[in-house]
Amino acid sequence: MLELNDIVVRYGRREVIHGLSMKVGAGEVVTLVGSNGAGKTTTLKTISGLLRPVSGTITFAGERIDTAQPHEIIARGVVHVPEGRLLFPDMTVREHIELGGIRAHVGGRSHAERVDWVHELFPILQERRDQKAGTLSGGQQQMLAIARGLMANPRCLMLDEPSLGLAPIMVDLLADTIRNLHEAGITILLVEQRVDLALRLAHRGYVLETGRIVIEDSADVLLQDPRVKAAYLGA
Ligand code: ATP
Repeated sequence: MLELNDIVVRYGRREVIHGLSMKVGAGEVVTLVGSNGAGKTTTLKTISGLLRPVSGTITFAGERIDTAQPHEIIARGVVHVPEGRLLFPDMTVREHIELGGIRAHVGGRSHAERVDWVHELFPILQERRDQKAGTLSGGQQQMLAIARGLMANPRCLMLDEPSLGLAPIMVDLLADTIRNLHEAGITILLVEQRVDLALRLAHRGYVLETGRIVIEDSADVLLQDPRVKAAYLGA
């Protein structure tokens, strides 16, 4: 469904992604694993059109998206929930949810159905709908960031470090949410510091080191890989 082919990305003259290729199949949960600075966020930003690759191609559902504008990429159904949530502290929960639906992929659920759906997934957001985002807990803010993304009606949802700063109980809830979204048919590309969690949620994974994919395999195999264990699973 989503395919990156020999992507090269630079910041100014500094090349940080050196010919990356990866695939995410329809309905799959795929995780991109790597240490700080490996290029995970850069890869997601390139897919969502916030950065342009200097070479290589990106296709989604068979069509090139690497030359499309970010709003066009959302309209195709590729939606990025950024690291750090990037909410507007003075805007309410309801306003964020409305905002997420302004540029949406057309098809499937209507706007009103999506509002009901995100409230069903995250009942606390309905309770807090008139509260400003800046006054929510970290876990609630992450739910709101995901809800805003879901309002764009994604076929493929990219989550960047969703568990960052969450209490353990919220991490469990987040894992349940990701499973629910997968069951709802959404393809997921997950970047997550908690590699054990990511590999338990994912079908397949790619290990990125300084801008290059060094290992790719099923999540089960990666969980047992001695290199992955040593570098990312604290074994
Ligand atoms: P983290 O988990 O720390 O976010 P990451 O794997 O997502 O790590 P990136 O944020 O994609 O890594 O960074 C990849 C490389 O690009 C790093 O060396 C980083 O310093 C550099 N980099 C990231 N953003 C910029 C920028 N705006 N300008 C210049 N260099 C950048």
